[in-house]
Amino acid sequence: MAEAVNLRVSEVFLSIQGETSRTGLPTVFIRLTGCPLRCRWCDTTYSFQGGETIALEELLQQVAAFGIGTVCVTGGEPLAQKGCPALLTALCDEGYSVSLETGGAYDIAAVDPRVSRIVDIKPPESGESERNRWDNLPLLNPHDEVKFVLANRADYDWACAAVRQHELNARCPVLFSPVQGELDPQQLAEWILADRLPVRMQVQLHKVLWGNARGK
Ligand code: SF4
Repeated sequence: MAEAVNLRVSEVFLSIQGETSRTGLPTVFIRLTGCPLRCRWCDTTYSFQGGETIALEELLQQVAAFGIGTVCVTGGEPLAQKGCPALLTALCDEGYSVSLETGGAYDIAAVDPRVSRIVDIKPPESGESERNRWDNLPLLNPHDEVKFVLANRADYDWACAAVRQHELNARCPVLFSPVQGELDPQQLAEWILADRLPVRMQVQLHKVLWGNARGK
């Protein structure tokens, strides 16, 4: 008999996707509990602990109740839970369009290929750049995305060098975001334009809509 899959879940909620190429789409979010990283500017520290243990089948029922075809599995760090790949595959099998938001420290190889993997690359100001798993980058394909969250000019220069060195534009869309309250979005936009950088700039649409409200 197959081993039962349980997930530790911080929250399940319906919102507008605020990041990535899926920005603007009504999306069901499954936020899994726990993360071994401590990015200095993390905005979901409440997900580090707590939550509730939910069986995979029950979680699928909760998602189905929203009546929405797009699902994002996020965290915390979803891949820190061993049941996460099974959850992702089950969601794909149910016919959802599925994305995964991961901090980039874990191996993404076990993730179902139908999933769009959104992989952070942590710049120095995050305090966690030593945890970047560079071996993930050759695994990326055009329906994945990489995301840099940037706190200042030094982070921006570091990210530009990483894009060039790993030829990330040839692999998948590249996202640049400002750390809210630290890097002026207009400043980031001007740097990108001045450098003619082929990246997609994003601000967090859900924060424009709802501020830092939890469950949005
Ligand atoms: S990886 Fe994500 S959840 Fe974990 S500390 Fe960094 S920003 Fe927060």
